[in-house]
Amino acid sequence: MVIRNPLALRRLASHRDDLPGDVPPALCCEGITKRFGDVTVVREVDLVAEPGELVALLGPSGCGKTTTLRLIAGFERPDAGTVAVGGRIVASPERSEPPERRRVGMVFQDYALFPHLTVGRNVAYGLSRGSERRARVESALATVGLDGFGERMPHELSGGQQQRVALARALAPGPEIVLLDEPFSNLDTGLRAQVRAEVRDILRAAATTAILVTHDQEEALSLCDRVAVMWDGTVVQEASPEELYHRPVSPEVASFVGDAQFLPGDARGRRVATVLGEVPMTGTASGAVRVMLRPEQLRLVPDQEGMGTNGTVIDREFYGHDQLMRVALDGDVIVRVRLGPYGGIRPGDRVLVTVRGSVLTFAVASGGD
Ligand code: ATP
Repeated sequence: MVIRNPLALRRLASHRDDLPGDVPPALCCEGITKRFGDVTVVREVDLVAEPGELVALLGPSGCGKTTTLRLIAGFERPDAGTVAVGGRIVASPERSEPPERRRVGMVFQDYALFPHLTVGRNVAYGLSRGSERRARVESALATVGLDGFGERMPHELSGGQQQRVALARALAPGPEIVLLDEPFSNLDTGLRAQVRAEVRDILRAAATTAILVTHDQEEALSLCDRVAVMWDGTVVQEASPEELYHRPVSPEVASFVGDAQFLPGDARGRRVATVLGEVPMTGTASGAVRVMLRPEQLRLVPDQEGMGTNGTVIDREFYGHDQLMRVALDGDVIVRVRLGPYGGIRPGDRVLVTVRGSVLTFAVASGGD
């Protein structure tokens, strides 16, 4: 059965107008809910991935990301809602197709390769026997840049290569969608960035739709086309990386997806008065608000330029590609300011802190612009 549900069509219309309206999403979860005993760990989650998209499911530990992935893969059955893969409903409370019939590939955190099987036999594992099997294994290994590795054993490969074998195994049957559960967390920092980029390039080249579960905001923002932020069992925001970073729906999401600081403000229409002066807002509001400031939204002007000062630098962390200054504003508020790595501003210097561009504000009592 091909679904034509309103959620899928709305999403299709809103962010992928290059797709014809009758192409179903590769994945469409609507209102999926999962309870373990009397605890609801996934609550009415909607999640759509259009063909070829890389979507992150980002959230803190224990928020329900892995359970959502298991519901999509077929290792759990939803208590409410539906999962559709390629327009075909594969799970509902009444009916649940087994994982092997869903056309979903899975890559696990620990790769889950069979240690006693060669790379080639690992990749062949999910394929039915037949004349095409060998060609599919070779093609999957070539896709991940491991042609000629079929006779090696998993322990003869690096962590990054093992991860690519796991990806080849997931891709070999030609799935509609690949699910990756924290696939980079076993790799050390140096290798992680390289393997992330490789995996993204492989998924793009294969035009594969993928859902990446991660608790790492940098990974989600830098790799994915869209990010669904999960909090306490629900998706609280689903947006492009830029939208999520610049327009988070709540102070909690703002702080989770990056470094955010909040100053009290008094809003009047499109401008807000703060301890850093009056600044333009991205929306409109009136009365008391919380003004969100990313450290890179602030600028430091040294005292010598004759523009006056409003604070003193109290410390500095140097990261090489940039540096973070903490500035005590006159009147006791402390702000963090991110600067390029050059320039001679030092702790103890008097400076003028100003705001670049317009700011996002949240109502004091509840989230919102
Ligand atoms: P992490 O990033 O730490 O893996 P997560 O966001 O993936 O966390 P889940 O693994 O989905 O979160 O777990 C969500 C909640 O559901 C947790 O409180 C967990 O203890 C609980 N949970 C998961 N599986 C089961 C189960 N089979 N029975 C009971 N509770 C479970």
